[in-house]
Amino acid sequence: MTFEITNKDAMGRIGKLKTPHGRVETPTLMPVINPNIDFIPAEKMKRFGAQILITNSYIIYRSGDLRDMAVEKGLHRLLETDLPVMTDSGSYQLMIYGDVEVKNAEVVKFQQMIGSDIIVPLDIPTPPDADYSRAIADLEITIEREREASRLIKESNSENLLAIPIQGSTYSELRKRSAEESKKIDGDVYPIGGVVPLLDDYRFSDVVRIILDVKSVIPSSYPIHLFGAGHPIFLSIAVALGCDLFDSAAYALYAKDDRYLTPYGTKKLNELHCLPCSCPVCSQYSAEELLKIEKEEREILVGEHNLWISFEEIRKIKQAIKENSLFEFVEKRIRSHPSLLSSWRQIKNYSTLLEEYDPSTKRQFFYTGIESIYRPAVSRHHERVKNVELEKDEYTISTSSENNSDFYLKPVFGVVPAEMNEVYPAGHAEMPPVEYIENEAVDVAVNALRSFLRKHHDKKFIIRADGVWREYLIELPDNAVVE
Ligand SMILES: [Zn+2]
Repeated sequence: MTFEITNKDAMGRIGKLKTPHGRVETPTLMPVINPNIDFIPAEKMKRFGAQILITNSYIIYRSGDLRDMAVEKGLHRLLETDLPVMTDSGSYQLMIYGDVEVKNAEVVKFQQMIGSDIIVPLDIPTPPDADYSRAIADLEITIEREREASRLIKESNSENLLAIPIQGSTYSELRKRSAEESKKIDGDVYPIGGVVPLLDDYRFSDVVRIILDVKSVIPSSYPIHLFGAGHPIFLSIAVALGCDLFDSAAYALYAKDDRYLTPYGTKKLNELHCLPCSCPVCSQYSAEELLKIEKEEREILVGEHNLWISFEEIRKIKQAIKENSLFEFVEKRIRSHPSLLSSWRQIKNYSTLLEEYDPSTKRQFFYTGIESIYRPAVSRHHERVKNVELEKDEYTISTSSENNSDFYLKPVFGVVPAEMNEVYPAGHAEMPPVEYIENEAVDVAVNALRSFLRKHHDKKFIIRADGVWREYLIELPDNAVVE
């Protein structure tokens, strides 16, 4: 098996991807190496935490010298690295320039010949909001080329992995269709393509929807690459939705015009009073000192910081998966930008999908804001409690854990049977008290109470309610009395 999952949280996972040049632990970021540009060399990338790199086979193919060298010595010696290397096919150039001078079979065979670890066919990245007719026509060519690439790899019996990109512009049904066709082809990695313009425009809601559309079709055991996503601001969301691989050209592109990456957004170097980072670059220089350094050298230093901070974010995300606190982590990150906030709130429309993935037992539930209500732990609890068996005719429900009661009433979770009051999730939940928590968190609890009462309409319930709770406990079914 090429991809093995070892830990899970939300829809995210830690996995191991086996490549011809060794195992890669995901989620991870592949720094983009441009073999034409003398910047931070591939051999230095391990230092930042890189386990796999990505380069563009089309650029190598088009440049006579590089091509000869790659064919003669192989891709890894050309880049002077022993890390696995994924190669892009020229699709990016296709999106920017509208045309490339190479055929699919040609570029697939070339990637094979130079020893790429992960080969990408020449898919067509249809831009967002394209005409439907164009999106569908592009997609058909993409699917045809993916089938051809798969045949070529199989015929040659080589060990290179094959990526099967998923396209379809901003159309849900086309993304799903592309995913359906992709999973029929024997691939190893499934990239979601054509999202860079959306990320650049902060259209995170569209990206979230596209990822979830794809994930609803692609089996959970397949590794997903979010092609072109490398800015740390979006990494935690993408991982929590089940993406495993990312690539960063951002570290270099942003450094070119003194843009400094942080997990909260991008800063211009000349706007920074002090550097909010402790990486080797930021520990050695102040913002002022960096600005005095000659442009070319500064670009490398900012590029290095951009890599340090991006890999730091990846490590924090992995730790959150290990300790099952990825929801809490994402809920903190989305507060960096309103577009992130609205994008994440869409998960409430995909609760069934999230429930399929999210582990049902964790250590704790930290409430961080109304998005915490959308976690699967909450809907699962509501469902479970609604279906408990009741033998007595009359029960007590208390809003205070101080009183002895058959059930307790808590924000978010609603009715909690006494025997569940010490266990995850409701018993291990840390939340602000009812007078300080958002109305939505109490409303969702009272709605759950109402459906519980309706379900057990033949029983009587005495609700002992304190303070603010009484304001919420209105319009209850007749079998409940508030005392
Ligand atoms: Zn730094």
